[in-house]
Amino acid sequence: MKTDPDIEPETSWHSMPVQEVFQHLQTSENGLDSSQARQRLDSFGPNKLPRARKQGPFKRFLLQFHNVLIYVLLAATIVTALLQQWVDSAVIFAVCLVNALIGFIQEGKAEKSMESLQGMLAPVATVLRDGQKKTVPAEELVPGDVVVLSSGDKVPADLRLFQARDLQIEEAALTGESVPVGKDIYEADPEAGLGDRSCMAFSGTMVAYGQGAGVVAATGAHTQIGRISAMLAQVQTLTTPLLKKITRFGHFLTAAILVTALATFAFGILVRQLMPSEMFMAAVGLAVSAIPAGLPAIMTITLAIGVQRMARRNAIIRKLPALETLGAVTTICSDKTGTLTKNQMTVQSVQVSEDLYLITGTGYNPMGEFRLQDQNIDPLQHSLLAETLRAVLLCNEAHIYYQENEGVYRLEGASTEGALVAAAMKAGLDQKQENADRPRIDAIPFSSDKKFMATLHDYHQDGGRRIILKGAPERVLERCSHQANSNGQKELDPDFWHNSGETIASRGQRLLAVAFKDVPGDKKGLDEEDTSEGFTLLGLFGIIDPPREEAVKAAAKLIGRCVSVRDCQSAGINVKMITGDHALTAVSIADELGIGDGRTFLAGKDLEKMSDEELEKKVPGVDVYARTSPEHKLRLVQALQAGGNIVAMTGDGVNDAPALKRADVGVAMGKGGTEAAREASDVVLADDNFASIANAVEEGRTIYDNLKKAILFILPTNGGQALVVMASIVLGIGLLGEGGEYTLPISPPQILWINMIIAVTLALALAFEPPEGNVMSRPPRPPDEPLISGFLIWRVASVSVLLVIGTLWHYQYMLSGGASHELASTTAINTLVVGQVFYLINSRFIHEPAWSIRGFLGSRAVLISIAVLAVLQIGFTYLPFMQYIFQTEPVCLESWIRIVLFGIIVFLAVELEKAFFRSRTGD
Ligand code: ATP
Repeated sequence: MKTDPDIEPETSWHSMPVQEVFQHLQTSENGLDSSQARQRLDSFGPNKLPRARKQGPFKRFLLQFHNVLIYVLLAATIVTALLQQWVDSAVIFAVCLVNALIGFIQEGKAEKSMESLQGMLAPVATVLRDGQKKTVPAEELVPGDVVVLSSGDKVPADLRLFQARDLQIEEAALTGESVPVGKDIYEADPEAGLGDRSCMAFSGTMVAYGQGAGVVAATGAHTQIGRISAMLAQVQTLTTPLLKKITRFGHFLTAAILVTALATFAFGILVRQLMPSEMFMAAVGLAVSAIPAGLPAIMTITLAIGVQRMARRNAIIRKLPALETLGAVTTICSDKTGTLTKNQMTVQSVQVSEDLYLITGTGYNPMGEFRLQDQNIDPLQHSLLAETLRAVLLCNEAHIYYQENEGVYRLEGASTEGALVAAAMKAGLDQKQENADRPRIDAIPFSSDKKFMATLHDYHQDGGRRIILKGAPERVLERCSHQANSNGQKELDPDFWHNSGETIASRGQRLLAVAFKDVPGDKKGLDEEDTSEGFTLLGLFGIIDPPREEAVKAAAKLIGRCVSVRDCQSAGINVKMITGDHALTAVSIADELGIGDGRTFLAGKDLEKMSDEELEKKVPGVDVYARTSPEHKLRLVQALQAGGNIVAMTGDGVNDAPALKRADVGVAMGKGGTEAAREASDVVLADDNFASIANAVEEGRTIYDNLKKAILFILPTNGGQALVVMASIVLGIGLLGEGGEYTLPISPPQILWINMIIAVTLALALAFEPPEGNVMSRPPRPPDEPLISGFLIWRVASVSVLLVIGTLWHYQYMLSGGASHELASTTAINTLVVGQVFYLINSRFIHEPAWSIRGFLGSRAVLISIAVLAVLQIGFTYLPFMQYIFQTEPVCLESWIRIVLFGIIVFLAVELEKAFFRSRTGD
């Protein structure tokens, strides 16, 4: 058994001939076998870069105090301590501590969830193991592995290339050079710099074009990128534009609160002639209770929960601002294959000469019959059909194998190609045998731009060679002069093929044509010119790919078409299908999905001729784009954006990257997509499914709603607390001693207590709110919707005033009934708290009514937080040591009834307000 190779870190792989590299790494161009790879993984370790060291927990905890709002609280702690107001000082400090603790714990959780997302996006690599192409996690690569590269791949380790076909690699990650550099397989000068080592592909760089294969020379920290930046920061910080706005708003609010506190302080001393020390405490109480200290933590928690919820629904967020943008999306442009359809391609018809053959069976299981005019036939007896099937089998990169343990046939490669392999296998052709009999000399790979591929084979016994060309019918037909028939060949009849293509396409089948050209035996390789003309058409394939049922439903939900009555909602989002397929195929599938009007489409070639202005005018009326190339997507995004749309665009190939970057939300495919597309995107779909985009939009709207709800709840409650202090001083409510000592109806420590317990209980609950019933039936949020709307100001003011009236009224009522100041004040505090509890239930729905069983009992988080609050508040009122600290007294049942009645009044008043706004907006 071979032992592991001994690798010097400084080996100059780039100046070594390929065979020597193989020897050194004890491998060959067929790669390693699984047991060798496993053994090497043990000795060389996983192929990953060491992570940047994360901030230690202590530092993270300290950072929680780094916030203007908290600074004010800390200053108040110190000043009150200096004034020997120990209870106040301790309570204010407790507020800071509790907030920091919540922030610390939640941030930790949020970071974990971001990390697990990173794990879900871990890159993979195509390697040769046991002589077969396999997809493995890039982390499992070891020196000596053979890696196959194709366009859009991220190079997973440092490779010494030994195969390169038009290979171009963008090395910006390593050299900063963003123009792709050509690669080859020849040794470079030993002294060559990184950018000149053209036979090397370096880890972290991107394949921009072409194909290649190389042997892994270095992994993990030993790669060039590993050496340059041994530490890569991986964890994203949780922030979005809205969060930044809120932080800025927080600064403004702090300033405003400080000014108000100062003004109240001055008013108390100058107008009411109160004692400065008492007034100072009152001003501190006012400032502290007005500051929504818990708001930043709650925003972060809401986002973290949203990220997790989306991941559970298969939408993995790469860039956090997308969380908010998703809620404002007005147009979704989606690929067809795999996203809207199942990507289970099956050849159903083959037109060869005048005969249209139908093929039975589904998926990649190579069992099925060939039928001609309703009769089963033996395809190998029909020589032209057999020749056509052989051609698509040879000009093919996919293969189908039987997975013994699962008892199913699996496809390695593209689904369109897999369908062709399955069809040829149904006819009894053996791919291995065919490839051995007619070995491939060279190939031009398929690309979505060219829409064809070509291979060169040692085809004939006499040494003659043959080029096989397969691709979109228009592309193939324009290169053909003849067509094959049973007597050999005759001149091409383009109209016949055109019509037969349309018949097949209008049944929703993807079209693919195949042709050949015989060339002399000394032809060594293929270039563009070899594929430009002189081909003989063999046949035309019709491949079905049924729409996904979930996509049909999701599209219906978004655009408001009815699949079932229950699904008939309209989120007011336009759905557009962008496909490389034939227009009739596209329109037919779009119609099944409910997209478009079943007729209108725009073809790529017409789109190309339009000016930007013309396109901008055209796009609102067209939902199906056919025969497009990835470049068209960029123009479509731009045209839609110019019309004021917020666009989500899907993509999977390397050429989709510019459109994905330009779109407001770039959506890449996690399963079928390239690494290049993923890196350019904001969201990755783990299941490549259109329905997951619709879900992501729903979650995006929910997150935005929940952020708004948190603000709508927290600001009025803080406002209410602060206003109680202010109104008492201004209106002269409270106890006035003979020496000018003034006792507020609710003392500073008491107001701080309320502030703290509301922050840890009620306010947190809203982060867990499920989507509102109508979340997908309203139009998208205007992207420029201001955070501080007139509605918000109104709500803050009205609820604050309501809470103050109830609280101060109850205080006065108790006093006038002969109660002590302590009892009146305990009653007033409970009135304020219960008012806030009821307002929390109002806040569960921004516009919808909350008076329903769902409104009261529908959220576990809300019920738990109310229960915790009740326990704390009962302790506050009835426990002797709390009574000692906070100067409280037990409240009697009668007062509780009044307190709850007040809560109900708050609830009803806000519900009436919502009903009023609903009637005005006609919701
Ligand atoms: P969609 O938008 O539906 O996801 P697409 O834009 O990816 O599809 P392409 O894969 O670019 O579409 O295919 C465009 C056309 O190219 C197909 O209709 C088919 O005729 C042809 N084609 C697809 N795959 C191959 C292939 N492997 N070899 C040759 N021709 C192909």
